Amino acid sequence: MLGTYRVGNWKFAYRAGYCTVCETETVAEGRRSIVVMHVYFVPLFPVGLHTAWMCPHCACDINSRRPTHPGTFYVGLACAAIMAAIGVAIAVVTGNREAGSILVLVSAVMSAVLVYFMRINRYAEYRENVRRVEPLIGDVCPVCGDALQEGNPPRCLFCDVNVLTN
Ligand SMILES: [Zn+2]
Ligand SMILES: [Zn+2]
Repeated sequence: MLGTYRVGNWKFAYRAGYCTVCETETVAEGRRSIVVMHVYFVPLFPVGLHTAWMCPHCACDINSRRPTHPGTFYVGLACAAIMAAIGVAIAVVTGNREAGSILVLVSAVMSAVLVYFMRINRYAEYRENVRRVEPLIGDVCPVCGDALQEGNPPRCLFCDVNVLTN
């Protein structure tokens, strides 16, 4: 019943980026919409802006297959460790070895799964691909080829968007 929805979807910028779906460099199209809080279908108030960088080749958000940040796995492992410690504490304090060992077992399985996903995670490769992307120069529009209006950032008057150079 309480939730958010997005209103509008306008193009505001172009930027060089790495598409995680096509796995290639691309000029992404920045699109913005307003996030509106609603109760049932009654809009209450805007809570922010949503920005998406769309790939012109696959029409997906260029970050939609971004690998998980390694920090997430460490948080997961810390949770598993805490769970195991609680399991040991339960076994020692209450003498209920069964309850304690179930927690330890679950935490061991959780850790094994996390370690597996950590090993197949391609975050470093993704970072390297992003780092290799050359920023746009900002002299001509990468989409229509028109000369840009100078400014910070420069602007394509024909496409009516900013061209981000960083
Ligand atoms: Zn793509
Ligand atoms: Zn243009």
